Amino acid sequence: MKKLILSIITLTFLACQGQSVVVNPHELTDNDLTTTYTGTKDLNQIVFDTDFSAPVLSYKIYSSGELPAYDPSQWTLKGSNDGKEWVTVDERSNQTFFSRFQEILCVVQNPQTFKTYKLEASTLSKDTLKIGEVVLSDKNLLAGWEDFNYPNIQFESLSPDTEGSKVYHELVQNPDEYIKFHARKVAEILYYTDKDSINDVRNIKYTLEDKPGVSAKGGNTPNIHIFYSTQHIEKSAKESLFKLDFETRGVLYHELTHGYQYEPKGIGNYGNNKTFWACIEGIADAVRAEAGYFDMSTRKPGGNWMDGYRTTGFFIQWLTTKDPDAIRKFHATVEKMDVWSFDGAIKLVFGPEASIEGMWEEYQTFLKNQ
Ligand SMILES: [Zn+2]
Repeated sequence: MKKLILSIITLTFLACQGQSVVVNPHELTDNDLTTTYTGTKDLNQIVFDTDFSAPVLSYKIYSSGELPAYDPSQWTLKGSNDGKEWVTVDERSNQTFFSRFQEILCVVQNPQTFKTYKLEASTLSKDTLKIGEVVLSDKNLLAGWEDFNYPNIQFESLSPDTEGSKVYHELVQNPDEYIKFHARKVAEILYYTDKDSINDVRNIKYTLEDKPGVSAKGGNTPNIHIFYSTQHIEKSAKESLFKLDFETRGVLYHELTHGYQYEPKGIGNYGNNKTFWACIEGIADAVRAEAGYFDMSTRKPGGNWMDGYRTTGFFIQWLTTKDPDAIRKFHATVEKMDVWSFDGAIKLVFGPEASIEGMWEEYQTFLKNQ
């Protein structure tokens, strides 16, 4: 009831001023980037009226899947306790989204406790506005990662005339920034903060190429090369641009993990040791799963932790249900152990009583009951 009254006060007040306003538009809060809020005014006022009890410390605004011209380019976040007096807590101008379905994360400049927040946003030309999602957080979502050392990106489309290359650019307007963003996100999943001894990826050469396959990483940290197939892009884009984005980000999480992860010691190499291979590919898919870029309904009982890729990756990601830092801790065992093994890693993370067989069995029981 309280919320409703506040909304009515807010609406009435703004209507008196001859301005238009929307309250809690579901397209912006439904955790679905394919539903889009459309505003038509010079200045769109969007009220988030959910009775906040702690100050908003950071927020994310997501571009939609529509053309970049519809993206917000300037906005102000304001707070209020009575729906009448609004105080600016954050202000941004000249903002550019580097891809479709992309967040811009803002750390609030002037945080204060308010019951209600309002976003005032407009496009560069003060025309139709489209936004995918808005997330207001009472945490600073950039905390610990302000000084991340971004890699240098050398992007090149080697097959610019292919349909795949063209649709890639419909999705991604600024490939360098798109890749850099995911580099930090991968590091956030593998490490605790930017002060950790992060495997130093300095230069990433990223190429779109007209050849079969999906994507692959070559070279060795600090200089790596990632290829992404324009044929695979075309296939993924058939369903929707969102589906292509989901796939492109997912593949990028996997390949970038190969740049940022440490390699197991004392057991040979990727080409001649299956445990080494399963560890490397398992962690890469665990990071992708943790980032949210797998359809988790494809998880099925069966297989073995030595199967690599998503069979191993889903298992490692599932360990976060026992310990939220399980992926970071599991990855850290790769650095710590002189002779790496799955069983040794599980014991290091969960204690000497734990074993890979026991943990896998428990995971299988979870899968059967899901
Ligand atoms: Zn891989």
